[in-house]
Amino acid sequence: MLIDNFKRKIEYLRVSVTDRCDLRCTYCMVEDMKFLPKQEVLSIEELIKLIEVFNGLGVVKYRLTGGEPLVRKGIVDIIEYLNTLKMKGLIKEHTLTTNGTNLQRYSEILKKNGVDRINVSLDTLRASRFKEITRWGDVSKVLNGIQAALDVGIKIKINTVVTKDFNDDEIIEIINWAEKKNVDVSLIEVMPIGSIGEERFDQYKLMSVVEKDLTEKLSLTKSSFRTNGPSRYFTRPNSNQKIGFISALSHNFCETCNRIRLTCTGKLFMCLGQNDFVDLKYPLREQKTEDVIKMIEYAMSIKPKSHDFEIKKDDFNGYIDRYMNQTGG
Ligand code: SAM
Ligand code: SF4
Repeated sequence: MLIDNFKRKIEYLRVSVTDRCDLRCTYCMVEDMKFLPKQEVLSIEELIKLIEVFNGLGVVKYRLTGGEPLVRKGIVDIIEYLNTLKMKGLIKEHTLTTNGTNLQRYSEILKKNGVDRINVSLDTLRASRFKEITRWGDVSKVLNGIQAALDVGIKIKINTVVTKDFNDDEIIEIINWAEKKNVDVSLIEVMPIGSIGEERFDQYKLMSVVEKDLTEKLSLTKSSFRTNGPSRYFTRPNSNQKIGFISALSHNFCETCNRIRLTCTGKLFMCLGQNDFVDLKYPLREQKTEDVIKMIEYAMSIKPKSHDFEIKKDDFNGYIDRYMNQTGG
């Protein structure tokens, strides 16, 4: 079992299986993004080996992310491996965060392999806005993908990053659209991860303002539903839909953090909002599993108590010196 210095039981691993993506969301990447050299990226077999090691150490919840996990060649092998662990009762959660562009192709495969719920990132329902925020994406592919996943019985939560003067006037529309599909929505505050220049400050919208506005307009009340994650959930009258607010900057969610994050190059980050990591690639490639375990155990001793994100008017660049596509959301 992995326990950190603050007595938090660490049992949740997010695995970024690739840093590559078929979109370029403006808050996540720069347009001419330089991706990691292929030789640094772990093979599918290496990623599976690391999942096996983490599982042996008591990590029982897994979320595949990226970059875009469904553009990684060989991703089905990881999905199938996690399903074999699930069927043996060795893991409790096998899920995925995706931009949805490839869901039409993968929904049945996911469902067949024990992925019962997924998060789909969607910031707007409007074609022109979607093209703007993703730089070239086609929203109809995502909407069709969402329907395909719902049709095979996968439960979906929509993650929407709220950006100032971009989609902050569309949130109720998104919530209503999702409710008709029996889908929950989490609203996310822009985080200062990776340098994208001045845009970051311009994009930042305080989640407490969004929360206050929606509470009034939709008569929201606090839900008793909780996970160990950062979302605080609300419901509205006569609806089962959960509406979550994730505010990394204005509301710190670290006391109950049970998660760590693995990049596609084998770096283990203990906190999304800090720069420290241990690099598991070298012992892994030298097939020194004992050393991999020792490094993971050491990582527990340096997991920070909390992040200290901040967006300052005179500091537009990311406080975190990597992009979100490396550690996943
Ligand atoms: N490509 C997949 C997707 O978009 O769902 C998975 C990876 S993406 C990095 C995971 C999540 O991080 C998405 O919901 C995305 O909106 C969110 N994200 C990316 N950059 C962010 C930032 N700077 N602040 C807040 N959320 C961000
Ligand atoms: Fe790609 Fe997801 Fe980043 Fe958008 S948020 S660029 S879909 S990795």
